[in-house]
Amino acid sequence: MTRKTLTDGAAPLCIGTVDIVPGTRHTVELPAAPLYTQAEISIPIHVVRGKREGPRLFVSAAIHGDEIVGVEIVRRVLRNPLLKRLKGTLLAVPVVNVYGYFSRTRYLPDRRDINRFFPGSPHGSMASRIAHLFFNEIVSNSTHGIDLHSGAVHRANLPHVRVSLDDDDAVRMARAFRVPVIMNANLRDGSLRQAVLDNDLPILVFEGGEALRFDEQAIRVGVRGVLSVMRDLGMLPHRPLPANAIEPMVAEGGRWVRAPESGTFVMKKELGDEVDAGEVIGSLVSPIDPDEIKVRATASGGIIGRTMLPLVYEGWACYSESVITKAGYFSDPIEAMLVHKRRWWRAMRGLADLSYQSREGSLDEAAQIISRLGFSRDVSISTMKRFALNPGYQMCYTLGTKGFHDLLEEFAGKISESEFHKRVLEGGEIPFYEAKKRLENIEGN
Ligand SMILES: [Zn+2]
Repeated sequence: MTRKTLTDGAAPLCIGTVDIVPGTRHTVELPAAPLYTQAEISIPIHVVRGKREGPRLFVSAAIHGDEIVGVEIVRRVLRNPLLKRLKGTLLAVPVVNVYGYFSRTRYLPDRRDINRFFPGSPHGSMASRIAHLFFNEIVSNSTHGIDLHSGAVHRANLPHVRVSLDDDDAVRMARAFRVPVIMNANLRDGSLRQAVLDNDLPILVFEGGEALRFDEQAIRVGVRGVLSVMRDLGMLPHRPLPANAIEPMVAEGGRWVRAPESGTFVMKKELGDEVDAGEVIGSLVSPIDPDEIKVRATASGGIIGRTMLPLVYEGWACYSESVITKAGYFSDPIEAMLVHKRRWWRAMRGLADLSYQSREGSLDEAAQIISRLGFSRDVSISTMKRFALNPGYQMCYTLGTKGFHDLLEEFAGKISESEFHKRVLEGGEIPFYEAKKRLENIEGN
């Protein structure tokens, strides 16, 4: 395969309207379509040009606006003092989809995914235009590329890289990245990777962590990976691989194991675990039915992605109310009564739902429990029907409140109450067993 041999001589490199000469560093703002309030929008590009010749590498992140792990990876790479000794040019684009980054979503305001519109067109949709801008200014000025991604919202990925296994240069970059898994991913039409391959440029896609969250491990692996690829390309001083460097698993592809039924998924394996086909990876449970449904691996391999979304993480608000009450608020009798009334309502709704869903009681009997809260028979019946659309959900508040209290009790004396709250909130919406693991790790540090 013949590759572009674009290297940096003394000729100026022009990004946007800025000429960048060797031995300088610039931040160029590429203008994109203004918001409909007429606020100006631009895509920031950091250009670091070494004094000496070398490859031109682009590192892009947040093509999906909510995948912020890559944004932090780019920031840390740019702060690295080794860049003073750079050969060639680093074109770093921390946020390609600036619109999605503002609004914390994967997509553009027109609900399109930029990564389906490469190489784009100057006259097309918004997605197509941004793809075109990025492609023209960045990709066509590069000899190599690294595109940083994470899992979607509530989906965590084991740090891994995706390349076309047919492309030797890309596979070499993937090995240099030093991650446990290299995956051959199917090319998607319109993806940056597809377009870059058509342009005959080796590219590697990094995946790690979860959207809208900073996963420290994924960030560190990503920073180390980018710098390590730059060393391998001769852009940074060479350093031999450490003796304990692991040999990556090379995977032909990946697929999701889907839940056979609705429920709360309790994962028994961790990201990175190897499993055999048929092995149990977790189970589906419900607050109603004591039986567990086992979920099994559909193929042998390693676990590289998982859902982080449980059902039972409601209850924080109710828990907070109890903390506030304990701290001496709601001491006024009327306020105290309202707090208790709300808690009682939650409990009774849970009880009614449980009675109906477990077939202990009929719809009528369940509605009678609701009517004890002061509702008419008709309202109670229709309330029960509404609850039935989401079986078990009413119990979440009560189970959730209890869950937080149990955790707090378990860690009492080991960490302060305020530290407990901080740590639990930092974890986001994760199941209690994951929250417990987080707390255990912090305690061990
Ligand atoms: Zn992505």
